[in-house]
Amino acid sequence: MGKAKAGNRSYVDLVCTECKRANYTVSKNKKNTPEKLEVNKFCEFCNKHTIHREKK
Ligand SMILES: [Zn+2]
Repeated sequence: MGKAKAGNRSYVDLVCTECKRANYTVSKNKKNTPEKLEVNKFCEFCNKHTIHREKK
């Protein structure tokens, strides 16, 4: 009960594959999602949707 443990949760930057800017930070449970994230998101620098990939 009470506080959730932050154990497996970490924060990763999502980087636009076109301009290489880190536009988003998301929390990720490494246990449930061991593979690299790849998400189609809006990039305000490219002014369009691009693939954002988890920064190493
Ligand atoms: Zn971009």
